[in-house]
Amino acid sequence: MSLPPIKRVLLKLSGEVLMGSQQFGIDPAFVAELAAEVKAAKETGLEICLVIGGGNIFRGMAGAAKGMDRAQADYMGMLATVMNALAMQNALEQLGVQTRVQSAIEMDKVCEPVIRRRAERHLEKGRVVIFAAGVGAPYFTTDSGAALRAAEMKCDALLKGTSVDGVYDSDPKHNPDAVRFDTVTYDRVLADNLKVMDASAVALCRDNKIPIVVFSIREKGNLARVLAGEGVQTIVQDS
Ligand code: UDP
Repeated sequence: MSLPPIKRVLLKLSGEVLMGSQQFGIDPAFVAELAAEVKAAKETGLEICLVIGGGNIFRGMAGAAKGMDRAQADYMGMLATVMNALAMQNALEQLGVQTRVQSAIEMDKVCEPVIRRRAERHLEKGRVVIFAAGVGAPYFTTDSGAALRAAEMKCDALLKGTSVDGVYDSDPKHNPDAVRFDTVTYDRVLADNLKVMDASAVALCRDNKIPIVVFSIREKGNLARVLAGEGVQTIVQDS
């Protein structure tokens, strides 16, 4: 199984990759490296939508585990994703890439609200659109936000750049014998509860036939390799 031709892509980056080698927060030097990869991908003629998580700053579940109200903690997590979006916007614009941030929580001093038609226009004009604040509601994650924006922006694929190089049959951090899939179906991911994205995000991609490509963004040049159909990755799609 290989990917269909990709003209427009949604790239989802976990918040934790923005930390670089730090334990928390944003490492501007590493964000600049990521931005350079995004720029290189754009220069191949792709239209790029970006969604960035917030796990390097705050996760709602972690707050709830320490006794916070879950919804309140989730709103804090969404605000973290806006900070990451602004950091990535800054890094891209320093490289001369035009961008717009659209947030699902309105914040008109710093970015636009999510307006699909406007986002279309930005892409037509060659801008990278960074979607922040996930779906704008608690009890979701930015994976669901990424799947939602990929569907509404009619992206040809959802690329999930994370710290692991694909989808495994068990957690490779705990099981040295874990096996990575080259390809796997949405239904297998859901039935076996494989750790790719949360179930709502996988189901949304399945229902809208959006292939999910899971790869490590920590390795330099990997985004370009994956877009060229090379490199190590797992593709989630129907068989
Ligand atoms: N979040 C949310 N609704 C959304 C997207 C995000 O409530 O639509 C909150 C949630 O608390 C989540 C946090 O924002 O834990 C950060 O996002 P996520 O965990 O997806 O970041 P990542 O793991 O990709 O860094």
